Amino acid sequence: MLLEGKTGLVMGVANKRSIAWGITNAVSKAGARVVLTYQSERLGENVTELAESLKDPLLLQCDVSHDDQIASTMGRIQEQVGHLDFLVHALAFAPREALDGMYADTKRDDFKTALDVSAYSLVAVSRAAMPLMQGRQSSIVTLTYLGSERVVQNYNVMGVAKAALESTVRYLANDLGPHGIRVNAISAGPIKTLAAAGIGGFSKILHFVEKNAPLRRGVTIHEVGNVAAFLLSDLASGITGEVTYVDAGFSTTTAGLEAE
Ligand code: NAP
Repeated sequence: MLLEGKTGLVMGVANKRSIAWGITNAVSKAGARVVLTYQSERLGENVTELAESLKDPLLLQCDVSHDDQIASTMGRIQEQVGHLDFLVHALAFAPREALDGMYADTKRDDFKTALDVSAYSLVAVSRAAMPLMQGRQSSIVTLTYLGSERVVQNYNVMGVAKAALESTVRYLANDLGPHGIRVNAISAGPIKTLAAAGIGGFSKILHFVEKNAPLRRGVTIHEVGNVAAFLLSDLASGITGEVTYVDAGFSTTTAGLEAE
């Protein structure tokens, strides 16, 4: 039981296909108590139903684009749990029209929204969680994608937001390390989720990866969940500021792959 006696916050469960749900299952199997946040009332019912399978869950609503909601979430955790051993940031957003066509057409407001929700929010939640996490050998994990380093058709401003997120991981790791908090990212291969459905041509990308990744398949939310459980546990006590790839090896390959 890798995470026995630990309590963590998982942000970003929308439904049973969410990467955050794969992580929630892995960490609770490893013995952790989980606090879940969801963005809107619309998702509350869904998440409440999913959470019935967990032991002693705490559910809170938190839209990470609002500092007051982040503060009240941490306040509730302080009251009801008193501390946090880990935090999972598994959320992102860009307006649909920014995930189609040319990146050069990205509007200023869409750029701001994507960077705010998908990258700055990690800074905001980490800072707010710090008093609950410091001095506990605690760990933060966020989710990124290869589109931060390579051009992926239609990923556009989300790729730029993920580049900012990965850089944020390194700066936060340096700031929070002296307080006993590690910060890492998992770069997951493409997985069919609600967020992925918003990316034009996603199925084509998924199919290409399944055909050409060294493992000749994609990855599951359970595989991402298991790596997150490791990074959140004391087994990973020497790892911080890193991006770990859970993508069936696809990011290691280059041109000359099989045609579709
Ligand atoms: P998902 O199930 O749709 O989860 C995305 C979550 O982000 C949803 O719960 C969504 O809530 C939440 N969210 C969006 N804006 C928010 C806000 N302002 N405040 C709070 N929550 C907000 O999709 P997913 O694929 O699991 O995404 C999880 C993470 O993995 C994202 O960072 C994504 O970029 C990353 N990732 C995904 C893939 C992939 O192929 N699926 C690959 C690599 C990395 P609503 O539904 O209410 O908007």
